[in-house]
Amino acid sequence: MILFKEDSVPPLIIVFTPDNVGIMHAVNNGLINFGLDAIITGGMEGVHPGTHGDSEHYHGRALDFRVRDWPTKYLDGILKNISGHLDILTKTRTKILGCPVQYFYQLEGDHLHVERSH
Ligand SMILES: [Zn+2]
Repeated sequence: MILFKEDSVPPLIIVFTPDNVGIMHAVNNGLINFGLDAIITGGMEGVHPGTHGDSEHYHGRALDFRVRDWPTKYLDGILKNISGHLDILTKTRTKILGCPVQYFYQLEGDHLHVERSH
């Protein structure tokens, strides 16, 4: 299930761009076999690091997901699953858009950052 951090300060702002919707489904699909939910903790709100302060979060092309509920012993398997679903998303969106796009994840402390790079 796709869930949202309910007590976020400032409140979550999730923009339902095709990229963000694809990302949330890819992560959720990667977690389903482990009985885990995709909990979104970061969208367009707040401060996000990025090249020259221009994070993909501010363009509706990146989301953060809570990782603290993911058992450490399954972490590699979870990331492999998510990576596989992001590869499918990459192929599908590249075909739809007619130009190469790439989705990738990065573990950043207490969350998994997932974005579409240019
Ligand atoms: Zn992020």
